[in-house]
Amino acid sequence: MKRRTKIIRNAIRCKKCGEVLESKHVHDWVCCKCFRESGGREGCFCDGGLEYLRHGGNPADYESLCETRPFTDEEMEKYEAEKQAFYNSWKRRGDE
Ligand SMILES: [Zn+2]
Repeated sequence: MKRRTKIIRNAIRCKKCGEVLESKHVHDWVCCKCFRESGGREGCFCDGGLEYLRHGGNPADYESLCETRPFTDEEMEKYEAEKQAFYNSWKRRGDE
């Protein structure tokens, strides 16, 4: 079984303007001043919250401050159980 990674902090720091961008939830898209002012050619953006890590902009302009750790056994069990429950409810709907 593939062990998933838990995201504890999704943040990057722009080396050009020093701004720290932290995406706190899945649709929280944040970008720095240089990114805004250059129309996306410079600087960086951060997205995905604690669901996935999505960083962009100019890779030379930012560094990662992200913290992650592997899922514990307990969290893996909970994740699998939730996935199964979702699948079951979806399957039931399909039968109606
Ligand atoms: Zn910047």
